[in-house]
Amino acid sequence: MTPAVQTRPEPLGTAEAPPRIFVHAFGCQMNAHEGERLLGLARDLGYQEALAPEEADLILLHTCAVRDHAVQRILGEVGRLAAVKRSRPGTKIGLTGCVAQAEGAALLERARPLDFVVGTRAVGRLPQILRRVAAGERVVDVGEGAYLEVAAPVRGGPVCAYVTAVEGCDKFCTFCIVPYTRGREYSRPAARILEEVAGLARQGYREVTLLGQTVNAYGRKGAGRGEGEVSFAELLRRVAAVEGIARVRFLTSHPSHLGDDVIAAMAEVPEVCEHLAMPLQSGSDRVLAAMRRGYTVAEYRDRVERLRRAVSGVALRSDFIVGFPGEEAADFERTLEVVRELRFAAIYAFKYSPRPHTKALALGDPVPEAVKAERLERLLALQRSIAAEEAQALVGSRQEVLVEEAGEGWCEGRSRTNRRIRVAAEAAPGSLLSVRVTGVERGRLVAAETTP
Ligand code: SF4
Repeated sequence: MTPAVQTRPEPLGTAEAPPRIFVHAFGCQMNAHEGERLLGLARDLGYQEALAPEEADLILLHTCAVRDHAVQRILGEVGRLAAVKRSRPGTKIGLTGCVAQAEGAALLERARPLDFVVGTRAVGRLPQILRRVAAGERVVDVGEGAYLEVAAPVRGGPVCAYVTAVEGCDKFCTFCIVPYTRGREYSRPAARILEEVAGLARQGYREVTLLGQTVNAYGRKGAGRGEGEVSFAELLRRVAAVEGIARVRFLTSHPSHLGDDVIAAMAEVPEVCEHLAMPLQSGSDRVLAAMRRGYTVAEYRDRVERLRRAVSGVALRSDFIVGFPGEEAADFERTLEVVRELRFAAIYAFKYSPRPHTKALALGDPVPEAVKAERLERLLALQRSIAAEEAQALVGSRQEVLVEEAGEGWCEGRSRTNRRIRVAAEAAPGSLLSVRVTGVERGRLVAAETTP
């Protein structure tokens, strides 16, 4: 990826009737934040946010390629939106994100209501593309481009904000489409990240989550890897030092980059929360090798042990894929064993399905669907029982809650370990409360306020 650019285009709208945009972001937190950045860019262009597609002059679907049948889902969505176009002539529909990048011109051919398709690295050219679309052209741009610096993303809530640290991925795990759709790993300059965080703090945000597919690879050197001039551990320390920021989180970590310096930052810096999202993917070394994850179960376990020794009470989230080509019953049993042993606070688990462009595509999809479904259910059932026990074990404990929502007689937020907690007390969003957990209701912790 080439160095970042700052885009400050001329507004397209008029003061009397500013055009309106509706952005629907599918998929993970990174994509949700991309949606916020696209809204920020659109606002710079003179657009106002519409709350429903029926009210919009421009509908942007920010797509995700990770889930199964991604193309069919998006085409179905475009088909539904065709009715909006018919009832509101002049409305334009565009696709951005991973499916747009992977499929390009084929999408315009398959979906007549679509006006444009813009890939992940071409969004910096969106202002020019929108002008061409306004002139009646149907446009495809999935070419290369710089990381787009957006002056002010339009964020969802007033307390917690996402901030991109690393874009793209260099790992090329054999099942994953991300390196092909989002491009190579690129670290944003630390100065830009810190500037963005300082701006958020001035607006009253209390928590930032640094984002990247492999966020803890931040600052690695190499051709095109960007301008991350400090290590990830140092970045954490600098972000935590920004006046007004009470909490720092980061998503998602790769086990290969969980060095002792990152663990030390988590242990020593009070603002860095005791929570780590670090996918294991399988409990079998054979399967991990076929996935080209770059570590063994023993190496993953070693990192977890070092982390748990240094950071008391740390909560771990992991991801798993079941039914990867060649996964035998014994491999899956090893996954269950490691989940029993490491006791994650939460897991995300998925059935394997082949993705275009990936190396694993050549392996076919030999594990029958029914076997995958059965393995997924067993894994999720095991995790449900572990999560229930872990939640019960917290009853009586004291936790710090950062309030995100509040109503009459209640407020709700998350603990430092990322658990949602509902508190029987009134407090304004942004407040930090000391609470005592009094019970578990439908999987969610409930608590009463205590004096700190
Ligand atoms: S580390 Fe692997 S799974 Fe994660 S985004 Fe990169 S290629 Fe995909």
